[in-house]
Amino acid sequence: MKRTSLSARFDDTVFAPYWHDTVTPRSDLPALSGEDTCEIVIIGAGFTGLWSALKARERHPNARIVVLEARRLADAASGRNGGFCAPSISHGVANAAARWPEEADTLVRLGRQNLDDFEADLLAYRIDAEFERTGKVNLAATPWETEGLHQMQRTYARFGAEAQILSDEELKEHLHSPRYPAGLFEPNYGFVNPARLVHGLAEACLLRGVIIHQDSPVSEITPDGGGLRLVAPKGELRAAKVVMATNADMPILRRLRPTIVPIFDYTIMTEPLSDAQLASIGWQGRYGVADCGNQFHYSRKTADNRILWGGYDAIYHFGSKRDGRLLNRAQSYARLETNFLEAFPSLRDVKFSHAWGGIIDTSARLTFFTGTAFEGRLAYALGFTGQGVTASRFAALTMLDLLDGLETERTQLRMSCKPPFPFPPEPVRCLAIGLAQSHLAREDRTGKRSAMLRVMDRAGIGFGS
Ligand SMILES: Cc1cc2nc3c(=O)[nH]c(=O)nc-3n(C[C@H](O)[C@H](O)[C@H](O)COP(=O)(O)OP(=O)(O)OC[C@H]3O[C@@H](n4cnc5c(N)ncnc54)[C@H](O)[C@@H]3O)c2cc1C
Repeated sequence: MKRTSLSARFDDTVFAPYWHDTVTPRSDLPALSGEDTCEIVIIGAGFTGLWSALKARERHPNARIVVLEARRLADAASGRNGGFCAPSISHGVANAAARWPEEADTLVRLGRQNLDDFEADLLAYRIDAEFERTGKVNLAATPWETEGLHQMQRTYARFGAEAQILSDEELKEHLHSPRYPAGLFEPNYGFVNPARLVHGLAEACLLRGVIIHQDSPVSEITPDGGGLRLVAPKGELRAAKVVMATNADMPILRRLRPTIVPIFDYTIMTEPLSDAQLASIGWQGRYGVADCGNQFHYSRKTADNRILWGGYDAIYHFGSKRDGRLLNRAQSYARLETNFLEAFPSLRDVKFSHAWGGIIDTSARLTFFTGTAFEGRLAYALGFTGQGVTASRFAALTMLDLLDGLETERTQLRMSCKPPFPFPPEPVRCLAIGLAQSHLAREDRTGKRSAMLRVMDRAGIGFGS
């Protein structure tokens, strides 16, 4: 990345997630070496993998449970995200209502219950992830987005979810920005420090006898007697059951490869702001904010009152490239800066302490899906599409149900058990994503949904981050 193309506000920026500064990296989780056997192996130590390990321990107190992580804790999406904790497993109420009308009530109820249980688990396991349930202000920048907020409130009301349109005065008390003339407050929303959540979950697992190996990318899974054999660079593991929680990385199972695409999403973060600076933008409480275009920003405070400002660009690279060098992108940081200053002109003197990117596992209907392979001995969950902080816990429970052969409300959900529409191969994939993005951007500018997007809606195909 060319740092020189950025403004002086980035002169002292650390181009890595701020969240990483708040945890101590673990050097006591060596790579898998030699041969080992266990009952349950989990591939991937992000939220999904670690919730799977913790919940597997609750169900199987005496089982030998091993987690194999390709990199280091919190290196991937779970340590790079905004930390917004949605009361949803379906990428929001509207997505549930539009795609699964017959089970939308169930999805909304399970999503709320999952956030309650998520909070209860953090308390029970004494995980200090700086969780706070402080609500979210949804912001509109245009007349059609304002109408969108009213529509959102009506949809929420249908499902008994609380949301309040803010009057001009009330909006000024929440956020004072020339960019956003309208807002909707959603009280049931939470926030975490995501890297602390990863480390807290890992610690809770380790304390309960789960073994975690970092630097252990699994390259191969093959049947082995009644179980499965997994190959990593320095070792092999035989396991009766496997949870695959590899998110945006290239799926090990070939048949899953067309189901997700890696979309790069970027974040900038200010230095800690003073009370006077926060007062200048009217952001007094601890709630988060997000605007509501197809290309949207999300923003929140950290524990020490920095402002995180992320989103907008959603970058796809030809060939579904996942190169770590693409995790920094000067053009995206500059665009985020421009939009930040347009939203908060009084903060023109702030500097950005951190900037980073992460990869989102976008599925063509914006929610995770689950399934099994190897005659039910392996379960997978992926496709969270930018809303996986809380849904990952639910997906973990679903995978464990599947591995235990249980028929539960979770395993019966059409949302999670039906695979999403596959992305086409290249070069059509890149062209199709580019075309969808240009139509979504045009809708943001004009408020008009194109015929192509409406056809995609009817076919249950979506694209977003
Ligand atoms: C920039 C950004 C902002 C986001 N903001 C939000 C937000 O505010 N709220 C929200 O709800 N969601 C958000 N998300 C999405 C959320 O972060 C993810 O949905 C969630 O972290 C997924 O968790 P995971 O454990 O499935 O994936 P990951 O955290 O990606 O973990 C998967 C792990 O598997 C490992 N792995 C992959 N392949 C292998 C292999 N072959 N062998 C061994 N290990 C392997 C990887 O190294 C990785 O550590 C955001 C995502 C990004 C990128």
